[in-house]
Amino acid sequence: MVYLVAGLSCLLLTTTFYLGGFKPLADRLRSGHEAEIEFSMRASQWLVQGVLDRHFALARQTASRTAIRQRQVEHLQGRISLETLRGFSNPKLADALIANDELLGIERLGPSGERFLQVGLLPNESPAEACLAREDSGIHLLEPMPLGEYQALVYCSPIIDPAAGWVGSDLLYVNASALNAVIERPQERDLRTMTFGLAGPTGDILFWPRTQAPMDSLEAFERFRRGQEQTSSHLVRVLDLEGTNWQLFAVVNEQRFFAETNEQLGRLTLILGLLVLVIFVLTVATLRPIIRTLVEAHDLADRAQRDGMTGLFNHAHMQELVEREIQRSRRYRNAFSLLMLDIDHFKQVNDTHGHPVGDEVLSHIAQILTDLARQPDLAARYGGEEFLLVMPETGPEGALMVAERLRQEIKDNPVEVGGTHIPITVSIGVASCPAHTPPPSRQSMIRIADEALYASKRNGRDRVTQQVIDGKTSRSLRRVEGPHPDGRKKEGS
Ligand code: GH3
Ligand code: MG
Ligand code: MG
Repeated sequence: MVYLVAGLSCLLLTTTFYLGGFKPLADRLRSGHEAEIEFSMRASQWLVQGVLDRHFALARQTASRTAIRQRQVEHLQGRISLETLRGFSNPKLADALIANDELLGIERLGPSGERFLQVGLLPNESPAEACLAREDSGIHLLEPMPLGEYQALVYCSPIIDPAAGWVGSDLLYVNASALNAVIERPQERDLRTMTFGLAGPTGDILFWPRTQAPMDSLEAFERFRRGQEQTSSHLVRVLDLEGTNWQLFAVVNEQRFFAETNEQLGRLTLILGLLVLVIFVLTVATLRPIIRTLVEAHDLADRAQRDGMTGLFNHAHMQELVEREIQRSRRYRNAFSLLMLDIDHFKQVNDTHGHPVGDEVLSHIAQILTDLARQPDLAARYGGEEFLLVMPETGPEGALMVAERLRQEIKDNPVEVGGTHIPITVSIGVASCPAHTPPPSRQSMIRIADEALYASKRNGRDRVTQQVIDGKTSRSLRRVEGPHPDGRKKEGS
């Protein structure tokens, strides 16, 4: 019981802690994390977009050189040789190359992809096909490619002459290090929890902090790309990049992000757990001795009121009980009866079968008395082989019925000892007050019951004698003989 109460209190305490402090804290950390992811993504998108926009502007500038375009038209019309075109144009392109250190190489292709002009670093084979395949006239960002020791971004622009139409394509090879720097940048700050990358139109990874990115983040992105179910430890977010069909993506390692948070929450849980444990132990330690003392005191008090052999109330306590019930009956004008029982020829039982058997008979009678007694009735061992049954709120008829049933029950159930049945009979005397008749004093009640009992003895034992205390005067007694069990002549008063 103590454990249950202490345990329930601790459970209540834990639930309150969890709902009131722990859960809101965890929720706030989580929503804070969401906001942080959102912010990091927007910032990276802004930086990447800045680099790309700069390159687009560069591509537009180099492609729109009117003088070079005119020479190219002249060459295509057969008016100047390729050498003349190159001699005129290459130095201008070289100037542009020198002016911008992000530029690795520039080349200009003819209408069917043939190389007309070329400065700086160029691939062995220009991605002419990819460039020509583009049908619209804007500037296109092609797949990045390695160029010498660099990684190059390739911008392709169609060259349109107002008169001659499409006369070729301009290819710009730009050092990708600015873009790489942006991709790598967040990793330096937050490598453990967030990895950024760029993916092409088919979802292939184009840029990725290859040397630093954790493998599990890469795997998480691959799973995402294949449309597989995400693990709970990783979160993938994607944003489109303007002017391209590329995407910026971020892989968030939720597990790592929350590792620190979880560690803190774990520590909090531990402290809470210890606190609850201490409270539990203290509560149990404090309450247990108190309860034990109370229980012992109760046991002691109960034992002091009971007869050691039969477990019924003892003589001393019975006096108290009778007194209490008489007072109650007087106050509420209830009926009241007192039954006194004595075992017939008990001495013979002792003499024939020995004292221990006599004791067993006493316990047997006590058991029957307890079984037959109703809820408010109080049974006691009054003396050696005499018993009392106090029957509150029970008038003459009820008491007589109980007495008769008790006598019959004892007679019908001989005590069995060592295979032999010892027949037992009892004599009973009942003193009864009907309702609205205040009972006389305790001593008088007991004496009247005793007198009735002796009348039963005198009249041949194994019978019930009742004395009803008349309402008019408590001294005038009316004697009623109980029915004789054997149907023999009733012994009247
Ligand atoms: P009666 O029918 O007139 O009541 O005859 P009786 O023999 O029962 O009456 P009596 O008063 O002569 O004998 C009572 C006997 O009860 C005497 C005593 O040895 C026995 N007795 C009293 N207390 C105990 C007890 O605790 N255990 C046992 N075994 N016997 C007891
Ligand atoms: Mg006796
Ligand atoms: Mg007796």
